[in-house]
Amino acid sequence: MSTEIQKVEFFRHDLGEAEVMAVKQVLEGPILTTGQVTYEFERRFARYLGVEHAVGCMSATAALHLAYLALGIGPGDEVITTPMSFIATATAICHAGATPVFVDVEPDTGNIDPAAVESAITPRTAAISPVHLYGQLCDMKWLRAIADRHGLAIVEDAAHSLEAEQEGYRSGTLGDAAAFSFYATKGITCGEGGCITVHNPDLDGKLRKLILHGMSKGAADRYSGPYRHWDMELLGWKYNLSNILAAILLPQLDRVEGNRNRREAICQQYEEAFSGLEGIGYPRVRPGRKSARHLFTLWVPPAKRDAYLAALQARGVGVAVNYRPIHLMEFFRETFEYQEGAFPRSEKIGYSTISLPLYPQLTDPEVGYVIDAVRAVWCELGT
Ligand SMILES: *Cc1c(COP(=O)(O)O)cnc(C)c1O
Repeated sequence: MSTEIQKVEFFRHDLGEAEVMAVKQVLEGPILTTGQVTYEFERRFARYLGVEHAVGCMSATAALHLAYLALGIGPGDEVITTPMSFIATATAICHAGATPVFVDVEPDTGNIDPAAVESAITPRTAAISPVHLYGQLCDMKWLRAIADRHGLAIVEDAAHSLEAEQEGYRSGTLGDAAAFSFYATKGITCGEGGCITVHNPDLDGKLRKLILHGMSKGAADRYSGPYRHWDMELLGWKYNLSNILAAILLPQLDRVEGNRNRREAICQQYEEAFSGLEGIGYPRVRPGRKSARHLFTLWVPPAKRDAYLAALQARGVGVAVNYRPIHLMEFFRETFEYQEGAFPRSEKIGYSTISLPLYPQLTDPEVGYVIDAVRAVWCELGT
């Protein structure tokens, strides 16, 4: 059966009739920009996560940026985070005018190492930004204890971890703010979008101003009821989520758990198939944790990683690299003088990682095709 397959894309979205109908309804109404559909999405998103407030925005990058601004973190402040993430985790800290301070990760999960966080704290440290890599939550209880002891904020990069849970907490539960992404390849998507969650109503109010030019009234409210003058209270940005994009997101909330369960089943097939291949590894989901299973990554011998990438692509398997460590990107090397060897565990992951296709519409024969391709490449290239 799997012999008929010639190609498995790295990602395919699952948007369909429900999303088309929801967008059509917005297009037939008067408010295309932020309005009731956005607010409805925010309410349902917050309820799903069990947090107090959710503010829809343009991207997770914008969400992280605004979280720092709302928390008053900026020039002179340091934010401790990990280089094993997408660049936005660190660039958002720079956008706020603060300085990213990297620490290394746990070797088995790729998540920030709380012990390393503790030793990186200085009088300038203002926040910790943990990344729940590939969908597994960081050790948030430990990080919260460190933050409380030193009076630090926690800004979670939850771009991978929408469905994650452990010991009763979720993304955003223990942090002061959490940032979510609805980028094209994320678990729920509107092409480009994001959300910030917070517990504190004052932060929520501040975010709602910062997200729209610092104006005292939202755009949707400007067009309803009798005319009222608005003021600009602070220097804000233009990061709001429109009704059109929120309409694409709303129907997907109903499918979140089912889709995660399908990805979990695929991951288990991958893990079972690859655990016998000598020289091949993958990050571990620790016992008792529910991973969102956002990405499945293989760890292959670093010297052969690029050959594996090419060979898998030649067999029609879509691949990606999540991630080459941030501190070795040209901008970070030059601006912060980071060098090779600074974070050996992150670098080891960065040099050996390959992401495989993982999405709910992946069929069993396609999963089999990916597994056969990895096995064949492993035989071909060795370890
Ligand atoms: C996708 C992603 C981001 C950025 O999300 P955008 O919505 O594209 O800004 C940030 N951090 C991580 C870990 C991501 O995977």
